[in-house]
Amino acid sequence: MLGRDAGLPDLDLLGATLIESAVGSPVLWLGTISAGIVRLDVADPRHPRVLADDLPPPPDSTAYSALSDHDGRVYICTNNGVQLLVPQSNRYASRVFTRSDGMVHDECNRGAQFIDAHDRYWAGTLGGLTVYDPKRAVQDTQPKALELIGLRVDDRAVEGTSLRVAPTAHEIAIDYSLLSWQREGESRYRSQLVGYEESPGEWTAQSSRTFNALPPGRYRLRIEGRDYAGNVSAPLDVAIEVEARWWQEAWARVAGAAALVLLGYAAVLWRVRALKAQRRELELRVASRTVELNEANARLLELSYVDALTGLANRRRLLETLERDPVRARPCALILVDVDHFKAYNDRHGHPAGDEALRAVARTLRDGMPADALVARYGGEEFACLLEGADATTAVALAERIRAAVAARDIAVPGTKQVRRVTISAGVASAILAAAADAHALLRNADIALYQAKREGRDRVRSADDRVP
Ligand code: GH3
Ligand code: MG
Ligand code: MG
Repeated sequence: MLGRDAGLPDLDLLGATLIESAVGSPVLWLGTISAGIVRLDVADPRHPRVLADDLPPPPDSTAYSALSDHDGRVYICTNNGVQLLVPQSNRYASRVFTRSDGMVHDECNRGAQFIDAHDRYWAGTLGGLTVYDPKRAVQDTQPKALELIGLRVDDRAVEGTSLRVAPTAHEIAIDYSLLSWQREGESRYRSQLVGYEESPGEWTAQSSRTFNALPPGRYRLRIEGRDYAGNVSAPLDVAIEVEARWWQEAWARVAGAAALVLLGYAAVLWRVRALKAQRRELELRVASRTVELNEANARLLELSYVDALTGLANRRRLLETLERDPVRARPCALILVDVDHFKAYNDRHGHPAGDEALRAVARTLRDGMPADALVARYGGEEFACLLEGADATTAVALAERIRAAVAARDIAVPGTKQVRRVTISAGVASAILAAAADAHALLRNADIALYQAKREGRDRVRSADDRVP
C-alpha cells in the first residue's frame, strides 16, 4: 500500500507512465486530479519512493498522464493545455500549448494522448484531435515589433509619440506592447528613463511605466521588449519633456538673480543716501550750534567788557584800550570822575538809591561825551572817559560840562517820590600815547588831578597840566 503517509499528495490517480530518468532509473509518472504530476522512483519495486517535486508547475492541477518520446521530451495532458517538458542538463524546460498555439481545445481527455513512430504527439481534447510535430517546430529568431500603445497624462490620453507635460501634471503613463502574436504572456519588458535612471530595470511582464512629479527637464524613456523565444526587439524611445514653471525657466532665474542684484544695489544706494542725508543734517546742526556758540561767546566776551549796573564799558575794557599798543603815536586825554561823598549818600538813602544814582551819573556822562569817547565805569563810584585825539583843553571843557550836568540832574530815590542830587569831582590828564608805559602815566596823572579836585573842595575839575606842583 502506498498512501498519503508515504508522501503521495493525491490518491485520486488518473494515469501512470514509466519513464526512464536521465541516468536510466525507472520513474513512474502519475497523473492526479488535484496535484498535477507526481513521480515515483520505482528502481526498487518493493519500496517505491515519491520524488521531490522539482518539475516546472503544470498549467492545471488536473494532469491526466505523461508521455515520453524517443528524445526524452515529456508531454503532459491537462485540463488546461498540454505541457511539454524538454530535458536540459539537470532539469526540464517547460512550454505549454493551448488554443493560442493552435490547439483545437485547451482541455484534454483522459487516456487520449499518443506518440507515434515519427515522434509526433497526438492529444484528444474536448474539441477534437490535436497533433504536434516537434521536427516541424520552427526556431523563432525573429525579433518582434515593439509598439507604443498609448500615452496618458493624469489619466487623459495624449496623441502622438512623445510627451510634453505641463508643470501642473501629476502622473504620466506610457503603455507599450510587443507584437509577437503568440505566447505573449511570456513577453518581457525593461526600460530606462534616460536622464533620470542610471540603468535599465529588470526584465518584467509589466508593459507600462508611470512617473509621478518628474522634475522639469527633457527625458527619454528607452523601452526594450523580449519575446517568448528570447528575441530582443529594437528599442522604442519616447521623448518626455516636463515643462518648467515660469520661475524655474533659465530666463526667470537670470531675471530673479538680476532683480536681487538690483534690489541689493538699490538698498545700498538708499542706505548711502540716508547716511549722507543724516550726515548733512548733523553738519547743519553742528554748524548752527557753532553759530550759536560763536554768538554766545561773542555775547560773553561783550559781557566781560560791560559793566552790569550801568551798561558802560568796564574797567577791563578801559585798561585794554589804554594798554593796546598804538599803531602810531597819537594824543589822548583822560577824565577820571569820582562821585562826591557817596558813602554818605548810600548811608542816607540806601544802597538801591546809590545804584540808581550811579546809573544817573553814567547816563549823564554818556550823553555829555562825544560818540567816539570811551566812557567806562572804573570801579565803585568812579568813572573814566578816554578821548582819543583830544587835547587837555578840550578834555577840561568836556569835564566841566559833565560836572555841571551831573550837579543839575535830579536823581530819583527808589521807593520814594523824592529826588536828590550828587556832585562829581574830575581829574583830567593828557598824553601822547606811544607805549604801554604812557598809559599808566596818563592814569596816574589823572588820578592825581582828581585827588586835587577833592582836596580843593569837590564838585570841580582839575587838570594835571595846570596843576600847581
Ligand atoms: P569822597 O567824596 O571822598 O569820594 O567820599 P566818598 O564817600 O564818596 O568815598 P568813599 O571811598 O569813602 O566811599 C565810596 C563809597 O561808594 C563806598 C561805597 O559804599 C560806595 N559804592 C561803591 N560802589 C557802589 C555801588 O556799586 N553801589 C552803591 N550803592 N554804592 C557803592
Ligand atoms: Mg572813590
Ligand atoms: Mg567818592
